[in-house]
Amino acid sequence: MKKIIFPLALLTIAISAKAQQKDVITFDVGDFAITLLSEGQNEGNQNILIGATDEMLRQTMPNSTYPTAVNVFLVQTGNKNVLFDAGFGRKLFDNLQTKGVSPSDIDAIMMTHLHGDHIGGLLIDGRKAFPNAKLYISKLEHDYWMNDAEMNRAPENRRGSFTNARAAISAYRDKLHLFTPNEIETAQEILPGIRAVAAYGHTPGHTCYMVESQGDRVFIWGDLTHAMVIQMPFPKVAVAFDIDPQMAIASRLKLLEYLEKNDIQVAGMHTVFPAIGNLRRNRAGGYHFTLICECLGR
Ligand SMILES: [Zn+2]
Repeated sequence: MKKIIFPLALLTIAISAKAQQKDVITFDVGDFAITLLSEGQNEGNQNILIGATDEMLRQTMPNSTYPTAVNVFLVQTGNKNVLFDAGFGRKLFDNLQTKGVSPSDIDAIMMTHLHGDHIGGLLIDGRKAFPNAKLYISKLEHDYWMNDAEMNRAPENRRGSFTNARAAISAYRDKLHLFTPNEIETAQEILPGIRAVAAYGHTPGHTCYMVESQGDRVFIWGDLTHAMVIQMPFPKVAVAFDIDPQMAIASRLKLLEYLEKNDIQVAGMHTVFPAIGNLRRNRAGGYHFTLICECLGR
C-alpha cells in the first residue's frame, strides 16, 4: 500500500472529527462568550470540489471524502444573546436549552447567507422560531433571494432555495435589519462588539462577522470554507455550492491573508468540532488550520 503523509494540521482535523463528544461547548472572547451549537458532523464527497487536481486530492483526502459539520454559534455579550445563523434547526433548540437559553431570549440573529443549512432553524411550522429576535441580513443577500429574475435564471434544483429564503424573510419582515457590510479593514459595528464584513461569492451577499471584546477577537466566517482539509492548503479550490466560485476564491484569499497576519481566531459553519481554530501560512502559500483545544472550553 502506498504510504500517505499528512501535514500535521490536517491530521488534527481528521482526528478531531472522530473525537466529537459534545454538541455544545463555550469559549470566552474577552467579556463575551461564544458557544458552538452543533447540528451534527458528517463526511462530504470530493465530487463537489471545483479546481482540485488529482495531486491535491491524493494529499488531502485519500478516501475521497472530507470531514464536515453544520454549526450555529451563540454569542452572549452580557446583555444580548446573538445567534449566528440557524443551521437546519435539528438540534438547535435542544442545544440552546442546554445553555439555559430559550428562543424568546434571542435578541438578534446575524445571517451569513440564506442557504437551507443556515436558515432551517429560523422557522417552526412556517412561523418565526425566535419571536423577539431582530434578523440581520446583508442587503445584497436579501435582494438576491427576493429577485424573481434570479430565481428564474437559477437551475431547477436550486429554485426551492429561493422559496425557503423568502419564507424566512417574510416571517421576520417586521424585525428585519438590512445592512451593507464593508471590507474587513473598514468594517462597521452593527451591534456593540460585532462588525459585519463583506465576503461575497459563495452567495452574492455572503457576510462574515468579527466579534471582539477586550481585545480578544474571533471571526465567524460562515461558508468561507466547506472542505477545510483541502481549502486550507489549497484555498483556490471552490465548491459546487458557490454561486460565484471565482468571487468566493477571491474573498477567501483576501480574508485568510488578513486573518493570519493579524492572528485572529476563526469559527466556521462547516468546521469540525470544536469549530474554532487558528491559521498559519505554510511554505507553499496555503494555510494550516489548527483547531483550538476542547480543554479551553466549558
Ligand atoms: Zn453552508
